[in-house]
Amino acid sequence: MNSELRQEYLAALGLKSWTLRAKTAPESPATEAIAAAPAAVAAPSQRIAATPTAAPVIAKPPIAAAPSAAPAAREAGVDWPELRARVAACTRCGLSATRTQTVFGVGNLHAEWLIVGEAPGADEDRQGEPFVGRAGQLLNSMLRAVGLAREQVYIANVLKCRPPGNRDPNPTEAAECLPYLERQIALLKPKIMLAVGRIAAQNLLRTDKTLGSLRQQVHRFGASSVPLIVTYHPGYLLRTPTDKRKTWEDLKFARDVCSRV
Ligand code: SF4
Repeated sequence: MNSELRQEYLAALGLKSWTLRAKTAPESPATEAIAAAPAAVAAPSQRIAATPTAAPVIAKPPIAAAPSAAPAAREAGVDWPELRARVAACTRCGLSATRTQTVFGVGNLHAEWLIVGEAPGADEDRQGEPFVGRAGQLLNSMLRAVGLAREQVYIANVLKCRPPGNRDPNPTEAAECLPYLERQIALLKPKIMLAVGRIAAQNLLRTDKTLGSLRQQVHRFGASSVPLIVTYHPGYLLRTPTDKRKTWEDLKFARDVCSRV
């Protein structure tokens, strides 16, 4: 992407004065975090092991939460069409009674980036697609700012049905629904996951830490130890645009980590 176009996208994020540093800049936050981590240990996944030896090794995060348990056996071996059908017919929690439709996920089935939000909102519940409306448009701008089209990534939520009134999901709902996302991850095999928003981050990392304390670290998810970066939800950024710059830092961090996987 040329710099003029990138500036256009940054402007859409409200970051007109920012310029993009080179990917390999030594002061890059991702590089700093990776290099500064004590006793770097090569990650166990094949992708990371296959990283050329000259490249920086992605270390375990300094304060990473415990990774999720192995993908639930409940959906093991299920392919994309069957998984979609199971979600569409799901009545495992009470949200099935109030949804208009399930919101399975959308995007490139060979995507390197998986974006995970919290749950469908009103627009998503109506349209059956995650991250539509104003929040979706801002997410698209966020992705374009790091050179990604919406069509290149996969987008899903922790929950496939809308909680009434956009309330936070309760633990039972999240526990019942998470195996669907875990199967999506197992099928997709993304290089990197971007958890957007506190609820998504806390459910994926099984922690109650604040979003602020989870940012700018390389967490790991699941049995395959997928690198997971935490940032703000675009819906939050619409209400709190002053945090867009932090989000931009998180996106650059994620891009740098992804380039080393
Ligand atoms: S939120 Fe998940 S577990 Fe609950 S009914 Fe919808 S698809 Fe099923």
